[in-house]
Amino acid sequence: MTQNQYRIAHHFSCWVFFLSQLVLIGCIGGLSDINIFSDQEEADLGEQFANEIEKDLDINDDADLNSYIQELGQLLVSHSKRHNIAYTFKIVSSEEVNAFAIPGGHVYVNVGLLRISETESELAGVIAHEIGHVVERHGMKQLTKQMGMVMISQLIFGEDPDKIQEIISQITLSGVLMKYSRDAEREADRNAVEITYAAELNPSGIVKFFDKLQRQKDQKDSQISTQIQKLISSHPLTSERISNVKKLISELPPRPLRQRSLQRFLQLKKQLPPPKESDSRWTGRQD
Ligand SMILES: [Zn+2]
Repeated sequence: MTQNQYRIAHHFSCWVFFLSQLVLIGCIGGLSDINIFSDQEEADLGEQFANEIEKDLDINDDADLNSYIQELGQLLVSHSKRHNIAYTFKIVSSEEVNAFAIPGGHVYVNVGLLRISETESELAGVIAHEIGHVVERHGMKQLTKQMGMVMISQLIFGEDPDKIQEIISQITLSGVLMKYSRDAEREADRNAVEITYAAELNPSGIVKFFDKLQRQKDQKDSQISTQIQKLISSHPLTSERISNVKKLISELPPRPLRQRSLQRFLQLKKQLPPPKESDSRWTGRQD
């Protein structure tokens, strides 16, 4: 049994125990959407989740790509309603068109998403949406709702590192951190519009990206369609979401856009690693 298989088998046996705990805790779990944890507590917990998640992620270490994503991410953060915490932005070497954020401001962007973004404003819209989840503390609220404040407090203040690690692993495996309600998605979209507009980027990039996902979703046999399923399943794309964003944008007064180098964006896209062998059926645009 490889180490990874062992971990999965171990996770599964723990999971049975964990589910029985959830049934008990579930009674007090759905108490509210109120977040009672401080920024520091969220940061500590987020760090633990990030360490766990990154065990299974291939993080891209290209200096230029990373400096670009940091710069764009921090620009967007500085125009968000929650810019007093430290955010990190990392690129994941995966062709799945996806991005996600976890508590504490850890934002991950897949190479596949960078590959299908044709303009910086599309990419900025998706990143701003993820920042929106952090701004609204959706991850912490979701955790508290699913597991109860008692369990989360144990994760933050508990003194048995092995037990804490075990629960962190179980939560990570369950995907609880990334399953948000439609309301949460709508709220993150609203943040994305506000943040990109405030940063003097074009919020219409969000709509352009949505339209692209919708078109690809309709092309059932395309490889891109398979690759975007992940994004759509974690952030359900509905016509209501699209029309909400269009409406929000239409209500904004016109303003000049920040001058950003399109050449730099296109050059960085050329620096993306070639699709992995397992993704060799990739047929998406490369420019
Ligand atoms: Zn989302």
